[in-house]
Amino acid sequence: MKRQIATVFNEKFAAPPAAIYSSAGRINLIGEHLDYNGGYVLPGSIDKCIMAAIKPNGTDKVRLHAVDMNESCEFALSADAPVQQWARYVYGVCKETMKRNGLVQGFDAAFMGNVPLGAGLSSSAALESCFAFAINDLFNGNAIAKTELAKIGQDTEHNYCGVNCGIMDQFASVMGLEGKLIRINCETLEYDYVPFNPKGYRLVLIDTKVKHELVNSPYNQRRNSCERAAKALGVKLLCNSSIDKLPSIKGKIADEDYKRAEYVLAEQKRVIDVCESLKRDDYEAVGKLMYETHHGLSALYEVSCEELDFLNDVARECGVTGSRMMGGGFGGCTINLVKDGLYDAFVEAATSKFEAKFGHKPGVIDVKISDGAHKVC
Ligand code: ADP
Ligand code: MG
Repeated sequence: MKRQIATVFNEKFAAPPAAIYSSAGRINLIGEHLDYNGGYVLPGSIDKCIMAAIKPNGTDKVRLHAVDMNESCEFALSADAPVQQWARYVYGVCKETMKRNGLVQGFDAAFMGNVPLGAGLSSSAALESCFAFAINDLFNGNAIAKTELAKIGQDTEHNYCGVNCGIMDQFASVMGLEGKLIRINCETLEYDYVPFNPKGYRLVLIDTKVKHELVNSPYNQRRNSCERAAKALGVKLLCNSSIDKLPSIKGKIADEDYKRAEYVLAEQKRVIDVCESLKRDDYEAVGKLMYETHHGLSALYEVSCEELDFLNDVARECGVTGSRMMGGGFGGCTINLVKDGLYDAFVEAATSKFEAKFGHKPGVIDVKISDGAHKVC
């Protein structure tokens, strides 16, 4: 990809790039629906990235070429946001950097990537992080802290793309390291790295390629349930409490709210347990907890769907070490921790059984935990 993007840059802008930067998509091993509850998440950046070749052009204009879209766009840094969605991510990153008193001058850039779009691996965060990192390096001598680069990406989504996301995706994309997951406390944004070196196992995502649109915004309903449970427990955010305190409010809140809280507080404990297991290289224990998470998301939090539950069942039947739905729910991927020797049989079974039942082939996405934002050359 490095050579290809340099070549395209040369063709489009009639000069070699000054530098090439990259940033990655992400997975989340465990810790689902905990961000807005002030709990932990455990993401890692993956070996699927966006790569950009860049050169300052001495003007106040940004000239972009998106190789994968085969589209170009030009905007002045003082002008309104461009219409192309993909260009708004770059525009937003420029603006948010300037808001933080970062220097942004005109530049030419060509970029491309292999993070699947909209599959739940956060291609948009990879794009934002790549440009935020590049601008910080090219124009600001890396004076802006890396955690702030993540916020630049998050604010870009909020202010220029209409996506009210949390910080996890950008944080993982910017801060990710090969062989490590990042445990982030979503209330304080404190974080630490946890080793992830599953020798003899592979991580593979099976993509249902469905996204069920549901009425009555289930996300807001879940949030409201969690808020009511937190209030009953006398805490600001649900994860400020713990699973052993939950029985004290049994019968004092609606059964449905109780179930939601039961999932959240059990999940918070599971993230801690997974981190302990990872430190011992005990991937069998990690896998069991992943199945528990899936069960909780499906039976208690009720954000799964038929396709995801089906894939989870297939994984279990095949003897896959760990499997769960990943992301907000109602579609998207399952994340699977599979022994090397079982990989081919599992992928074949998941693909053929899923197709027989749902009439289309699921996607298969192999991932390795790799470095996040960095300068390639
Ligand atoms: P995801 O879950 O993958 O982040 P989003 O809808 O949030 O899905 O972001 C996808 C958008 O990000 C695309 O519509 C496009 O605007 C932009 N994008 C992602 N990857 C690329 C790419 N390789 N080239 C151009 N734009 C991209
Ligand atoms: Mg996105």
